[in-house]
Amino acid sequence: MADAPTAHRPIRVLPAAVSARIAAGEVIERPASVVKELVENALDAGARHVRVDVRGGGLDLIRVGDDGVGIPAAELWLACQRHATSKLGGETAPGGTDPATESLDGVRTLGFRGEALPSIAAVAELTLVSAVDDGGVGHRLTLRDGTVVADEPAPRTRGTTVSVRHLFQRVPARLAATARPQTEVTQIGQTVRRLALAAPEARLAFFVDRRLGFQTGGSGDLATVIGELYGPAVAESLLPLGPLEVGETRVWGVVSGPEVTRPGRGQVHVVVNGRWAQPRGLLGQLEAAYRPVLPRGRHPVLALAVATAPDQVDINVHPAKLEVRLLAERAVGAAIGEAVRTTLGRRPVPLRLPPALELPGFGLAPGLAEERAAYDGDGPILTPGLPPLRLVGQVRDRLLLLEGEAGLFLVDQHRAHERVLYERLAAAHGAEGRPRAEPVALPEPLLLELSPAQVARFGRRLDQITALGFEVEAFGGRTFLLRAAPSLPGVLAAPSGTGDPALDGLGESGGFVETLVGLADEEPGEGEDWRDRLLVRLSCRSAVRRGRPLPRPAMRALVEHLGRTSAPAVCPHGSPLLMHVSEALLEKQFDWR
Ligand code: ADP
Ligand code: MG
Repeated sequence: MADAPTAHRPIRVLPAAVSARIAAGEVIERPASVVKELVENALDAGARHVRVDVRGGGLDLIRVGDDGVGIPAAELWLACQRHATSKLGGETAPGGTDPATESLDGVRTLGFRGEALPSIAAVAELTLVSAVDDGGVGHRLTLRDGTVVADEPAPRTRGTTVSVRHLFQRVPARLAATARPQTEVTQIGQTVRRLALAAPEARLAFFVDRRLGFQTGGSGDLATVIGELYGPAVAESLLPLGPLEVGETRVWGVVSGPEVTRPGRGQVHVVVNGRWAQPRGLLGQLEAAYRPVLPRGRHPVLALAVATAPDQVDINVHPAKLEVRLLAERAVGAAIGEAVRTTLGRRPVPLRLPPALELPGFGLAPGLAEERAAYDGDGPILTPGLPPLRLVGQVRDRLLLLEGEAGLFLVDQHRAHERVLYERLAAAHGAEGRPRAEPVALPEPLLLELSPAQVARFGRRLDQITALGFEVEAFGGRTFLLRAAPSLPGVLAAPSGTGDPALDGLGESGGFVETLVGLADEEPGEGEDWRDRLLVRLSCRSAVRRGRPLPRPAMRALVEHLGRTSAPAVCPHGSPLLMHVSEALLEKQFDWR
């Protein structure tokens, strides 16, 4: 406790230049914030071409040129004053014309606070050159330390060029907080990419120290823009999603499959009504849809556009950041999640080049001749999720070899069975609106012997375990009896026929006990995760192992079940289970043409 009275200091109003710098700090945190504000202004001005130049990590120069409507000479100075904006009232936004009472609902332009230019002017030298027509004569205004140092005619075609020099030079704290130029350039690049995806019909060019970083062609197409930003290989690997209609909301875009992943979320782009945004609920549902098909800690590449009525979007303005929320976020997120699941589920993982190294590893020669004879009698395997396939046989007691119009397919038998079991369990997890799993009595009850700590954790999860179709009974002390387990094809078939006799006895029913005891060792964390872990582990432990020779009817049945799952190409851990050796690849490899 400080008891010595602090000497009284007179209350003073901050000099305007100082308060401006404090306010600017909220809007302009780093060079990337300047770039964002300037490009947004250009887009608001209806620009079709925007050129961004950055030098010295943005500290020496940031310049954004556009071919938008321009600023009349008489308004250049005004544009640099606080709370001066042309974007409330009038044509750009519906509603009243008084900025003080203007509702932010339904704001259609990107800027509307009238703070960017004055904030930049408070922390840098700012030059605007602008013309409102193509007469060739525009006007230049330069502000240094808030004072006009140039105000004169200048050559310029229609549009505006804003140059920001010596950023933060007079704000030591901000300057000290900026990172190495390379890091700032990375941030700026990320900002420009987001803007490019938010405005795919504009042509954006990004130059770093006079070198072209990337540019977009204004195609209006998200897949094309992704290609321009991240390279054609990334773009080609993406799958189209939508358009979906959810009430008044429309969603479309491109998403990566399970084979294209990134260590961070930097290439996850969601654009809401032309504004790059992070609608949290929706992103959460997207991630959940990817979870069973991506390895832990990996993230997808995607660009989704959401278009909806302006009154369906809640825009919350904080000083430094802007939060965008959709009123129908849950419903929209659920629809996107469903679409992602369907899209991802229908794609085998393509074989990567160079194939010459990988093909000999298949070892498909031995035994192939014998299998041929048997397979001739088999009809094609027809499923909704896979192309029509003919079973050739088993390779190395672990892979199923199939052929179809599109080439050869190899299926990892263990992972295929895992996928089938996982989906069976997930469909029957007892959640609202889903059928409860049908328990099947075990031929003999299995004994679960738990430690005191396990008993407590197990008890807390008993409801979820029961909902999955397990019947567990206390047997006194720390012992439980497992009397029934969910009906799973290949592991435990229901007498009613929901199992598959062809798969009987393939799987490992001992996996039930192993899994339940193992999970009783874990602290019940977030409920949702625990359930999914249970499903994944249960399917893994119960699935047919590698190294096990399979009878032909079992192979067929496995592929038939697999083709009816939502994701026949990946196991629930996110590993590939299907490999496609395409006809084109074979032609190329053997030089058949
Ligand atoms: P806001 O964008 O919130 O209105 P700014 O400080 O970013 O505030 O810009 C102030 C005003 O300057 C804008 O409302 C607009 O009228 C004008 N302006 C800024 N940049 C441009 C530009 N590139 N083209 C045309 N007008 C611009
Ligand atoms: Mg602005």
